[in-house]
Amino acid sequence: MMVSFPGDMLMRMLKMLILPLIVSSMITGLASLDANSSGRMGLYAVVYYFATTFMAIILGIILVVSIHPGTFTIMDNETDLVDEAPVSSLDAFLDLIRNIFPNNIMQSCFQHTKTVYKKKYLKNDDNDNDNSTDLTNITTTVSTLSTTASVNITNMTEATFRWVRTFPPVDGINVLGLIVFCTVFGIMLSKMGERGKIMVDFFAVLNEIIMKMVLLVMWYSPIGIMFLIIGKILSLDDPAALGERLGMYMVTVLAGLIIHAVIILPSIYFIITRKNPLRLFIGILQAWVTALGTASSSATLPVTFRCLEENLNIDRRVTRFVLPIGATINMDGTALYEAVAPIFIAQMNGIDLNFGQIITISLTATCASIGAAAIPSAGLVTMVMVLTSVGLPADDVSLILAVDWFLDRIRTSINVLGDSFGAGVVAHLCRHQLEQDQHAPIDDRSIELIETQSDKKRGSRISQGNGDTTHDE
Ligand code: ASP
Repeated sequence: MMVSFPGDMLMRMLKMLILPLIVSSMITGLASLDANSSGRMGLYAVVYYFATTFMAIILGIILVVSIHPGTFTIMDNETDLVDEAPVSSLDAFLDLIRNIFPNNIMQSCFQHTKTVYKKKYLKNDDNDNDNSTDLTNITTTVSTLSTTASVNITNMTEATFRWVRTFPPVDGINVLGLIVFCTVFGIMLSKMGERGKIMVDFFAVLNEIIMKMVLLVMWYSPIGIMFLIIGKILSLDDPAALGERLGMYMVTVLAGLIIHAVIILPSIYFIITRKNPLRLFIGILQAWVTALGTASSSATLPVTFRCLEENLNIDRRVTRFVLPIGATINMDGTALYEAVAPIFIAQMNGIDLNFGQIITISLTATCASIGAAAIPSAGLVTMVMVLTSVGLPADDVSLILAVDWFLDRIRTSINVLGDSFGAGVVAHLCRHQLEQDQHAPIDDRSIELIETQSDKKRGSRISQGNGDTTHDE
């Protein structure tokens, strides 16, 4: 606990900045674009996200089928249940939509909606008339979703129950809801012209302050990251034994992630932009290491922003719009892992999946990666949805739980890499539009004004080009 403490402090500092960063960057980003540019930028971003996610999934499937890391014989019976909630694919999908439209924007700053099944016990008298129906319900639920109810089913005379869906708010920021709200808010603001300027200025200044706070946290991050990783390694029971048992599985996931990061993403970037991908790798190195340490794309978001804007000079109007959305829905590493893990689990169970089931896995893995929150091990939770979609036992997630802390870090760093390449691609594709965008510099002008006033005192130089500001401090 003491060793992890400095690392926990880094996590807390980064998380503290996420909410004001997302809100201020999305609103200023969209307010500074006209509807045409934001529509085009959104389209490019979404096409890029889906294309790369799908490529990652296909790569994962090819590798896991050809390497075949799962051996039926080494499967043992330890099945400690990870998550008892028998949430189905449909529930997970509907939760995604529910969270897109939060019913209270204040609440979405710290809570989101999640379907939770609760047991509703029926009195014996109540059952007399309708016992068979209830039994059918339970049996269906048990066979498709849950293992816990099977214990109780043998004891029907004592207490019978039904699973009832509830939609309680659970802790954790509803990023998707905030993004949707801020997108619409920013677009409306951009349409207001001069009348909305005071609001644009407010969010532009807020964004600038938060970015300066991010810089402070970045100075501390090497120490924090080191302690986060040391703390995690110290908490492991027997890493060597795990390596033996799950070694090939880890090799498969790692090979996929490396191929995606070193060949696929840079090739797409190079083909579209004709720029050197190595420069981008070097520019975002700090964000990449932060992702390895924190295992959370959203906690890394403040650092990703700074790396892209300061090191790589990517247009702020692009980063502000594309990065928060990318961190939330574009997870190439998670998508690859969501495809590999269920097939590995099927191999461990000695089940041969047919072509239709593999297609189902690729589709649900796409949804699972979009739906996974950008927090540690979120992919493990949404994988239950992929497993149940092809009838694999949900509690077999426990088979891979032991190595998830490690793979989570690597896949998160690939998620961040994918978002960064995405921002580079979108910035390149929209460059002409952004140059012409008359309305665009509104918030940059505000920032420049403020910075010029304060920087004059320090004798800093601010150079300007194409509506962008480059700081030379
Ligand atoms: N930890 C990942 C992220 O934040 C999500 C996952 O569990 O795959 O991007």
